[in-house]
Amino acid sequence: MKYPELKNCINGELTDDVSDHLDVLSPLDGSIISTVPLSNYDAVDKAASAARKAFESWSRIPIKERVQVFFKYKQLLEKNLKELSELVHEENGKTIPEAIAEIEKSIEVTEFACALPQLAAGEIMEVSRGVECRVDRYPVGVVASITPFNFPNMVPNWTIPNALALGNAMILKPSELVPLSANRIAELLKEAGLPDGVFNIVHGSKEVVEAICDHPGIDAITFVGSTKVAKIVYQRGTSKFKRVLALGGAKNHLIVLPDANVEMTASNVAASMSGCAGQRCMAASAMVAVGSIDHIIEKLCEEAKKIIPGKNLGAVISKPAKERIENYITEAEQQGAKILVDGRNYKVEGKENGFYVGPTVIDYVHPDMKIAKEEVFGPVLSIIRTKDVDSAIEIQNSSHYGNAASVFTQSGGLARYVTERVSAGMTGVNIGVPVPREPFSFGGWNESKFGAGDITGKSSIEFWTKLKKTTIKWNPESRTNWMS
Ligand code: NAD
Repeated sequence: MKYPELKNCINGELTDDVSDHLDVLSPLDGSIISTVPLSNYDAVDKAASAARKAFESWSRIPIKERVQVFFKYKQLLEKNLKELSELVHEENGKTIPEAIAEIEKSIEVTEFACALPQLAAGEIMEVSRGVECRVDRYPVGVVASITPFNFPNMVPNWTIPNALALGNAMILKPSELVPLSANRIAELLKEAGLPDGVFNIVHGSKEVVEAICDHPGIDAITFVGSTKVAKIVYQRGTSKFKRVLALGGAKNHLIVLPDANVEMTASNVAASMSGCAGQRCMAASAMVAVGSIDHIIEKLCEEAKKIIPGKNLGAVISKPAKERIENYITEAEQQGAKILVDGRNYKVEGKENGFYVGPTVIDYVHPDMKIAKEEVFGPVLSIIRTKDVDSAIEIQNSSHYGNAASVFTQSGGLARYVTERVSAGMTGVNIGVPVPREPFSFGGWNESKFGAGDITGKSSIEFWTKLKKTTIKWNPESRTNWMS
């Protein structure tokens, strides 16, 4: 094994009390690179106690002092960018440039957290003569962040800097498929000066997530992952009266109109469907082709054929994921769809045990087919042909997801018409991956997100804090006012 057996990180100590462990495989070549403990309620209980104790002092430190840790953390992410991105590449299977982009996004969200003293200040106003009201933000308390496999560094960092800078203490439950980056994050936070216990990691799977939902010492939970589990976490967590924000899966539509710029559209759609091997919740999954756009589809296939697994296309996360993706393609073919570019049964020379699927473009997909409705989460694009803009919008609106949707056109009026009508939390014009950058917040609609607000940016301030309203009378000569 390239890396030592992984342990939980509780109160600054590496601990492992369980006998149950899971092998961590590198999707690049299928080799075992480490093992991860499958912890239980006891570990969550210990982490919750450590976090509560740390919270008492951390939350009392002024925010301007707390963010100094994140100025240092940002520098450490920058200093260690190469090593951190190699770790992401190895445990997740994405390419090195994609892993670098992931760490760069972690740096950007940390930069945002450093600005929180400017953004999260309270308010004060004289509400009647000699009487003022002030509103102060208080941290929620001990919070938990449950994360998926597709961004081992970035998704934990969507929550860590903001939640901690705002005074909370955290338990992170990373995906058991990519647990290594989380422990490196803990080391860097410690090096940046974060006190022990403010950030803890409990590794594991379902049992740890259920313990987090049930534990009375945890006040709030963010979850990022599939819609199936997002619903479980949202229901179970809120039934225990916790504040929960649960981001789920996606089925993103790119609506391409006949006047779209051919080269730009083809390269953007190809990059969106294949980036991170299609394992992004913002990836293009369906292209809704409006009218006759065969010239764009032809160019798109040319672009897709330039994407080579093991070179500029990474691996998918696991063997079951590869099989699941290939089954979707085969089923669509059997139902009458036409495979224009076929990525099935791909082997990378020298990495025959890696989990690779080549870029796949499927034409004549009907909106009722399984591949048109479900999240495939692989480098696969379904083309759904339709006659006009309104029917394209109808197809997008029929999805129960609502993360992202984009339109490709040179008409400003049509772009506006579409972005206003699609049912998605993040929309784009002539862009394949419409991810809002800081300080704008990230979050979808419909079954792509459960709970109020978004997970990053300004919106996250509401999630990680609660408001205290104080009314003060400064005029003793006026013994009563209209409220008293
Ligand atoms: P997942 O739902 O399988 O796992 C997410 C987390 O939940 C992991 O930590 C895992 O250990 C835990 N988990 C898995 N099954 C569980 C169960 N039955 N009960 C309790 N906990 C359980 O998701 P994944 O496969 O790791 O990630 C891919 C999914 O995440 C895709 O659906 C993708 O769209 C979604 N995603 C969404 C966003 C977003 O912003 N909306 C971002 C990234 C990924």
